Amino acid sequence: MSGIVVIFDFDKTIIDIDSDNWVVDELGATDLFNQLLPTMPWNSIMDKMMKELHLQGKSIEDIEEVLKRVPIHPRVVLVVKAAYALGCDLRVLSDANLFYIKTILEHLEIQECFSEINTNPGFVDEEGKLRILPYHDFHTFSHGCNLCPPNMCKGKIIERIQATLEKKRIIYLGDGAGDFCPSLKLTKEDYMMPRKDFPVWELICKNRHLLQADVHEWTNGVDLERVLIQLITTVISMDDDSTQLFDCKFEKIAHKVLPKPVYVP
Ligand SMILES: [Mg+2]
Ligand SMILES: [Zn+2]
Repeated sequence: MSGIVVIFDFDKTIIDIDSDNWVVDELGATDLFNQLLPTMPWNSIMDKMMKELHLQGKSIEDIEEVLKRVPIHPRVVLVVKAAYALGCDLRVLSDANLFYIKTILEHLEIQECFSEINTNPGFVDEEGKLRILPYHDFHTFSHGCNLCPPNMCKGKIIERIQATLEKKRIIYLGDGAGDFCPSLKLTKEDYMMPRKDFPVWELICKNRHLLQADVHEWTNGVDLERVLIQLITTVISMDDDSTQLFDCKFEKIAHKVLPKPVYVP
């Protein structure tokens, strides 16, 4: 294992579009979605949309079929495999839902590359209807972060991940406004990779002084691959150097402890 944890947002980072919009649009429910948009939180709308689609006779198989043809840049699949092969611990942190993410990652045959998927619960109920619930149940508990939507504070999740890591660097990739809060939790040992010209990039540009992490922007799948592999190889070679340094020091200390050679005239 390398000392690197790579945390990927999902929508518009791993896949090239927003999965919620994709499913709604492809199943012809855009008008209803737009009507509901001003009335409740996004995550609650999606649960309602799934009920509506079920009533209209759309099956789980219909949703899976739509998810399996989601647009994704082919280099992103390759870079996930490459980062995994280099020994990085890969995780997903997304405001989509578990059903969408698992279906897509399994279809792309990269699910085993990820050690953790942090997202909103998504499951098929006994009526065969997809349910999408909030990550934090905001009806009983408020996460207290005013940067994030009520159902999920990605910053809180990053803090939970950081509490379990020892001497590991995080590389975080994201595009959305929801990726700004976690970017503020990264330390000076970490790297933030915002997608250029997307909301999180704009927020970072305006608030650069609030971030401790090193910032490396990317534009598309080709660029994501280039920047991520460059960062991973840099960190791996830095960590190798520090191990060597330690060994050298140890050798010097060991020399001091050894008895001085006795010169025979
Ligand atoms: Mg996103
Ligand atoms: Zn937050």
